[in-house]
Amino acid sequence: MHFSRFPRVYLAHLPTALEPMDQLSRALGGPRIWIKRDDCTGLSTGGNKTRKLEFLMAEAVAQGADLVVTQGATQSNHARQTAAFAARMGIDCHILLEDRTGSKDANYNSNGNVFLDHLHGASVERHPGGSDMDAELEVVAETFRARGRKVYTIPGGGSNPTGALGYANAAMELVQQANTMDLKIDRIVHATGSAGTQAGLIVGLKAINAAIPLLGIGVRAPRPKQEENVYNLALATAEKLGCPGVVGREDVVANTDYVGEGYGIPTPECLQAIEMFARLEGILLDPVYSGKGAAGLIDLIRKGEMSGDENIVFLHTGGAVALFGYTDAFGYGDHADALGCDKPIMQTA
Ligand SMILES: *Cc1c(COP(=O)(O)O)cnc(C)c1O
Repeated sequence: MHFSRFPRVYLAHLPTALEPMDQLSRALGGPRIWIKRDDCTGLSTGGNKTRKLEFLMAEAVAQGADLVVTQGATQSNHARQTAAFAARMGIDCHILLEDRTGSKDANYNSNGNVFLDHLHGASVERHPGGSDMDAELEVVAETFRARGRKVYTIPGGGSNPTGALGYANAAMELVQQANTMDLKIDRIVHATGSAGTQAGLIVGLKAINAAIPLLGIGVRAPRPKQEENVYNLALATAEKLGCPGVVGREDVVANTDYVGEGYGIPTPECLQAIEMFARLEGILLDPVYSGKGAAGLIDLIRKGEMSGDENIVFLHTGGAVALFGYTDAFGYGDHADALGCDKPIMQTA
């Protein structure tokens, strides 16, 4: 894998830190848990889309684009990072947001990522839940082209072979870091959605023969669909990188038991995971992706599925800005807490 063969805008703060979470590990009494801080990639509060956008936005520039158009759910972290990246590069940005949750909460609809989309100067249009968003994206792009704009479209989550290059590269970065720290990684766990992160990682890990199992915790699709999406994108990414054949179907593993009611609807276990990371490690997760990923990690550890002498790396994919779209879900209200009050971590049945 030789990433310099591809156009890239070097904008992310890399390498991201790899740190132990000893208080959380102790609280769970299981393996030693490490965190890879891809929530700190440096652009507009960071997140995993920035690694993908380094390659996608470079391609946009190479094609002479003056406008990027992309799509996502209302609280899309991808849309926000795209808006920021475009601002940084002096390119216009137009965003299609899909109402996947039907929430009427004012914070959900206009705070958090939506607020930042506007702050970065992107224009935003809304679509009802269940729309074929990638088809809508093309329609909107054509409208702009008819007006003379040079449009570059980015699919939801930046998940195509170009975007996934960012995570094939991240796999190399992580293994290199572990090697210099004398850390033997037994497993990597992260939240998987539009599939680019997992597909890129698996290609990278396999291409360097790292022999580290990777587990994606799903946030939307059922397992067969999620694994198929990741596998197909991994094949195309490996092809692009010039290493076809490195990924087998068995390398792609997603656990979709933690989705709950649906995409963007937090489960009690997700909220509890967010509180645990916040109160034990001072780290902010998000209610749509990393909170559900962490809920899966915590549950699997509690069930004894990861043994005490393992080193687990949780890839923090970012998204904490969305917390401000979900404050009501936590039920803290606006009452004053007593001084020194010992706040327990939310209990789930
Ligand atoms: C997009 C996103 C993910 C999922 O990554 P995919 O590449 O879409 O699978 C996970 N966490 C956060 C915070 C995200 O914004």
